[in-house]
Amino acid sequence: MEHLSVSEAQRVVLESVATFSAEQVKLEQALGRVLAEEVRANRDQPPYDISAMDGYSLRSADLGTIPATLEIIEDIKAGDLPGKTLASGQCARIMTGAPLPPGADAVIRVEDTNALPDNRVQINQSVKRGNDIRRLGENMRNGEVVLTPGTEITPGVIGVLATVKRAQVQVHRRPRVAILSTGDELEGLDEPIDLNKIPDANSYALMAQTQALGIEPVLLGIARDDPDELARYLQRGLEYDVLLVSGGTSVGVHDYVRPTIEALGVQMLFWRVAMKPGHPVAFGKAGEKIIFGLPGNPVSSMVCFGEFVAPALRRMMGHARIHRRTVEARLTHNVKHQPGRTEFIRVMLAQEDEGYAATSTGAQGSGMLLSMARADGLAVLPADCNGLTAGSMVTVQLLDGTVFQDDAGFRE
Ligand code: AMP
Ligand code: MG
Repeated sequence: MEHLSVSEAQRVVLESVATFSAEQVKLEQALGRVLAEEVRANRDQPPYDISAMDGYSLRSADLGTIPATLEIIEDIKAGDLPGKTLASGQCARIMTGAPLPPGADAVIRVEDTNALPDNRVQINQSVKRGNDIRRLGENMRNGEVVLTPGTEITPGVIGVLATVKRAQVQVHRRPRVAILSTGDELEGLDEPIDLNKIPDANSYALMAQTQALGIEPVLLGIARDDPDELARYLQRGLEYDVLLVSGGTSVGVHDYVRPTIEALGVQMLFWRVAMKPGHPVAFGKAGEKIIFGLPGNPVSSMVCFGEFVAPALRRMMGHARIHRRTVEARLTHNVKHQPGRTEFIRVMLAQEDEGYAATSTGAQGSGMLLSMARADGLAVLPADCNGLTAGSMVTVQLLDGTVFQDDAGFRE
């Protein structure tokens, strides 16, 4: 089988997955999901013209001479309905969110007034018609479409859904994901330390990458390098929508994943991708189910998850944005590269006046998980690149820890 490029392999994966059907969830459970319905406003919001300030609602024409003195005829709090109409020379004390009384056409904030005895107030500023009024329906009009299908449910979207009183919403179903590690040398997290063994990091790193997408995966454990045992585990894994198997996908004599998967009737669509790390990465499907054979090396399996698994899972969940955000960064040092494979280099990012600066986390061995732990992103070197010199610009995929930064990062 030929070696696909990363983008060709991504295309094969994405052509094999469809967005899942909808299910109903409570609003409290909807964060991070993707809306599977159109949502319309079921009221005008605000329901009438309301005050944007604590102050006085008045007739702007009464402020021809400043200061002006007005008579206070009513107190209107948020939730009250005004009872009186303002005549010339009158005003009503009003709180933020309270409806304007008939006759009023502006609000002045309390800071621009002085209270006087006998229910009177001195107005120290003239204001225009409409000042500090929030108009009926300026947030949303009854019947208006406020959210479209495919919207990712962020906290702001949750606020809109609550405004239109959606205690339940239709969202796309999430895939059920199973994770399996393979290898005689692997030691489970709950097993006693045996210094001859290799701790199973992949189950947990892949678990966390899946959780970061809002999916709680099932860990199937560790299958030994034995065709029968592997077949049993793989069969269990194929009960899920997505199966991630790490290790055993190379061409070593004990790499049984390939023959065992094929014997189970999985149609394999690729076995190799021209990338570094992550060269031995496989993908197949069995009906609607998909299976990824990820490299055993921990960094490679995490990189392959980011390039292939995450976009597939996000597509299934209904997301329109399925790829990691990228930024352009300036390399702080030379980088060697032999043309032929797309290379993903773990880098740390620093924000400089001109933009981001990217610095390698150090040695890039595909087993060096600590350098993955330190990385802010993956700098992507195209397959045809002959290496880059310090100062060159490079595209960096941002990793999960980059949403927050040390300082506020803006000038005021
Ligand atoms: P393999 O793909 O099975 O040839 O494994 C490649 C390398 O990754 C070997 O050094 C394995 O010991 C290591 N490896 C495989 N699976 C895991 C795992 N689940 N956690 C940590 N290292 C692993
Ligand atoms: Mg192995």
